This record gives sequence, structure tokens and C-alpha cells, in this order.
Amino acid sequence: MKINPRCKQDFTQVYINTEGYVMPCCWIGNHPFLQDFFDFLGTDAEQTNLKNLSLNEILKSAAFQKIESSWDSETPFRPCRIMCQRKYSEDQNLRGDNEIATLEIEKE
Ligand code: SF4
Repeated sequence: MKINPRCKQDFTQVYINTEGYVMPCCWIGNHPFLQDFFDFLGTDAEQTNLKNLSLNEILKSAAFQKIESSWDSETPFRPCRIMCQRKYSEDQNLRGDNEIATLEIEKE
């Protein structure tokens, strides 16, 4: 499975929620993926909170590395697999929407 991470290509920004958690994109910070973020990172999620670390530290944290290293694994982080799996992201870039990814979420 190939992940085509749009957070490393189309835009260079992060998403910060009202509780101070920094996430690599807004998809992860919202329904239906927010719980995936906490489930996947476990206690490492605290490494992504601005109450605990600076933004630069968070971007280099083990938590962010865990998400990024999953992209080359057999089991990529679920939001990344759904939103940025290569075939979907290529389609999205052509279509300008995420209709296919939305259908994939509903199947799970
Ligand atoms: S879903 Fe994953 S790979 Fe895609 S932009 Fe967000 S963090 Fe990056």
C-alpha cells in the first residue's frame, strides 16, 4: 500500500485543536478520525500537545514520527490510508474532492 501524504506535498501546515494538540492535518483533528489519533498514539499523544512541548519539538517528536513511519508499513495509520492512499489521492487531485475517500469511510 502506498501513501501519498498530502501534508508533505500540497500544503505545509499543521492543525491545532482548541486543547492544544498539534496534528499533521485537519482531517485527523476532526470526525471521524480524531479518536484514531488518540488510539494510535496512546500516551505518546501528549507529545503533540503545546502544553508539553514547543511546536518544533512536536514536529520532531516520536508521536509524529510514528504516524509518518506508518506510511511505509503494511498497516498505515487509518486516516492516512483512507485520505491519502495513492489511488485515492490521485483521484482527489484530478477531481478536486474526496468523494471516493468518503465512500471508503462509510464501508468500514
Ligand atoms: S491523512 Fe495522513 S498523510 Fe494525509 S495529509 Fe493527513 S497526516 Fe498527511
